[in-house]
Amino acid sequence: MAYESRLLESPIEYLKGVGPVRGELLKQELGIKLFGDLLMDFPFRYVDKSVFHKIRNSKHGDTIQFIGHFISMEESNFKGRKRLTAKFQDDTGTIDVIWFRSTSWVKQSIKLKVPYVVYGKITRYQRNKNLAHPEIEAYDPETQSRSGLIPVYSSTDKLTAKGLDSRGRQKLVQNLLKQFRISDVNENLPAYLIDKFHFLGRYVTLCDMHFPNDKIAQEKAWSRIKFEELFFTQLQLIASKIQRKKHLKGHAFGQVGSLFHKFYENNLPFKLTDAQKRVMKEIRDDLGSGIQMNRLLQGDVGSGKTVVAIMCMLIAADNGYQCCLLAPTEILARQHFNSIEESLLNLGMRCAFLSGSIKGQKRKAVLHGLQNGHIHIIIGTHAVLEDPVIFDNLGLAIIDEQHRFGVAQRAKLWAKGKTLPPHILVMTATPIPRTLAMTLYGDLEVSTIDELPPGRKPVKTIHRKEANRTQVNNFMRSEIAKGRQIYIIFPLIEESEKLDLENLQEGYENLLQWFRQPEYQISVVHGRMKSAEKEYEMQRFVKRTTQIMVATTVIEVGVNIPNASVMVIENSERFGLSQLHQLRGRVGRGADQSYCILMSGMKVSEDGMTRIKTMCSTNDGFKIAEVDLRLRGPGDVTGTRQSGSIEFKTVNLALDYKILQTARTLAQRILENDPELDKPANRPIRGYLARSARLEREWHRIS
Ligand code: ADP
Ligand code: MG
Repeated sequence: MAYESRLLESPIEYLKGVGPVRGELLKQELGIKLFGDLLMDFPFRYVDKSVFHKIRNSKHGDTIQFIGHFISMEESNFKGRKRLTAKFQDDTGTIDVIWFRSTSWVKQSIKLKVPYVVYGKITRYQRNKNLAHPEIEAYDPETQSRSGLIPVYSSTDKLTAKGLDSRGRQKLVQNLLKQFRISDVNENLPAYLIDKFHFLGRYVTLCDMHFPNDKIAQEKAWSRIKFEELFFTQLQLIASKIQRKKHLKGHAFGQVGSLFHKFYENNLPFKLTDAQKRVMKEIRDDLGSGIQMNRLLQGDVGSGKTVVAIMCMLIAADNGYQCCLLAPTEILARQHFNSIEESLLNLGMRCAFLSGSIKGQKRKAVLHGLQNGHIHIIIGTHAVLEDPVIFDNLGLAIIDEQHRFGVAQRAKLWAKGKTLPPHILVMTATPIPRTLAMTLYGDLEVSTIDELPPGRKPVKTIHRKEANRTQVNNFMRSEIAKGRQIYIIFPLIEESEKLDLENLQEGYENLLQWFRQPEYQISVVHGRMKSAEKEYEMQRFVKRTTQIMVATTVIEVGVNIPNASVMVIENSERFGLSQLHQLRGRVGRGADQSYCILMSGMKVSEDGMTRIKTMCSTNDGFKIAEVDLRLRGPGDVTGTRQSGSIEFKTVNLALDYKILQTARTLAQRILENDPELDKPANRPIRGYLARSARLEREWHRIS
C-alpha cells in the first residue's frame, strides 16, 4: 500500500493514544507500523447500533443486539468447569446469556437491573436460545442515539491486554481521522475509471471504510477498495509478464525432429484428444520462440498430462538438450520413471532416476551422467534440485503436481541452466478456480486440458456409514471376483499420526477377517515405511499379486493403475475436498465402471457433509474447487497462505470474482494502449505504483 503524505507515513507510536509500548505491539501483532497502516486495516464487520431487536422475535443464528437488563445470575459446574448463566430480559422475553471463561470477572462486573446492550450470535443449547460470551456494554442514550455503523476490528489477546480491543482500536482510528485531510491522499485511479464505476473519491472512501453513515455508504466504499486491490495486483502481474516476455531469452527449440515424430507415429498407443493437441501446439510455439517459457499446464486427474510431458521432452531432446521431470513423492516419481523409460526405450533415450534414497555408487553414476551429458532425461523427486546435481545442458524442466513445489524450488531450477534458464512447464491436476489461477499464476501462461480421453465412464461416488460395513465388504468381494482391484485409504495427518497409524492397523486387521489368505492378498503402504518397502508393495499391486491396497494418502497423487476400479475412503469426513478429488482420480482410469465409496462416522460436521455431498454429486474438478474455495478460503486451497500474492485486505476471491475479471480486463487493456503508463489520464496509476515501490524499498532497507 502506498501512502502519500507526511501524516500517513508517520510512525504509529506518534499517534495520540498509542506511544512506544502499544506501538511496538501494533507492529508485532498486526504489522501496523505507520498511521497509514492503521487506516488501511479495515474493520471486519460493522454493528448497526441504531437498531435493537426484540428477544421474542430473534432466531437461532442471528447476530443481533438487544437492550434490556439482567434479572438473575447463577453459577454452576459443568463437567468440572465453571459456568455462569444470566437471564437477560427485554420487554418481550428473556434469553440465557452464558459464560464458560472469566466467569468470576463477569460476575463481579455486571450489575443486575441496570440497562445494558448485549450483542452476539444466538445459538441453541438444550433447545433454548442463548447468547454465549456476547459483547456487553452499559446502555448510554448519548452514544446509542448517534446514527451510523460502528466498526468492529480484529484484535489479539496481547493487544486486548493493553486496551486495544475492538473499541480501543476504534478510538485510535477516530484520533487519526480527526487529523486526516483530503490533501493527505492522492487519487490513484484515473478519472475515467472513477466515472465509469461511480466511485466516491479516495478520501471519502477511506473515511467511510471505518465510519460509514449507513449500509449504502459502507458498500460504496468497499466496492472501490476491492476494485483497487484487484486492479493494482493485476496491473503488476500483467506488467511483469509483459516485461519478462520482452527481456528473458530462452533456448529456441527450432526443430521438431525425428525423436518426436517417431514417438508420435509409432509409440503413441492412442490418438491425442483435441485438448491435448491444442495444448501441445501452445507449448511448441513457446519452445520455439527464443523466449523462456513459464507455463502452467492444468488438467483434471486422468486428462493425460503425462504424454504431453513426454512429447515436450522429446522436442527438447531433438534439439540436443537434457530434461528433468520432478514429482512430489518418490512413488510417483518412480512410476513416471518406469513408464517413461519403457515408452522411450526403442528411441535410444537414456533416462535415469534420482531421489534421496539413491545413494553411493548409483548416485555417483547418475550425477556423473548428468554432468557429461550421457543421461538425456532425469526423473526424480526434489533431490534433483540439490546443489551437487549439475547438468550438461538442461533445456526443459517439468514439474508434476506443482502445488507441492514452492516458489523457491522453482527458482533453484532456473539456476540449473548453464547459459540460459531452462523452459519450465508446471503441471497440476489440483483444479484451481479460474479466479485463483488469475491471481496466483497471473504471471504464467496457462494451458488447460479440458477434456478427458474418450470412453471414460464417470466414477460413481456414494456415501456409506459404519452400519453399511457388511454391504460394502460384500461389494468389494464381488468386484474382486470380476478381477478388479481395490484401494482402501486411511487418513494420516501429522498431528494425530500415531493414532491414525493405529487406526490403519486396526482397519487392516478387520479386513484380514473378511478377506482371508490365500484367496485374498493385501498390500499395505504408508508414509512411515522405507521407500524400498513401499516400492515392493506397490509392485505387488501393479502385478496383481494383491487385490487390495491399504494405504494412507501417499498414493494421492498421480498413481496410475487402470485395473484398480474401486476406492474406499475411510473417515472421509476428515479429508479436504481437493484431496478427496485427487484420491478419487486414482480410479476410473480403465474401461470398467469405477466406484468411490466414502465411509464416514455417524457424526459429521456441516462442512464435512458439504464435502461428501459435493463429491457424490459431481466429478468436475473445477466445480469441486469452487466449493473448496468457498469452504476454506484461497490461502488454504492453494497452500500458499504465506505467499502474499493472494492476501487481500477486503477481497474474497470466492465471492468477488466478477470484480476480479473486470479489473483484469481493464488492467490488460490499459497496459496494451499505454505500456509505460505515461498518458496524462493514467498518471494517477503511475504515481501510485511509484509510491508503492518507494515505500517497499524503504521497508526493505529498514528490516
Ligand atoms: P494425468 O493428467 O492425471 O496425469 P495421465 O497422464 O496419468 O493423467 O493419464 C491417465 C491415463 O490416460 C493414462 O493411462 C494414459 O495412458 C491415458 N491417456 C492419456 N491420453 C490419452 C488419450 N488421448 N486417449 C486415451 N488414453 C489416454
Ligand atoms: Mg499425472
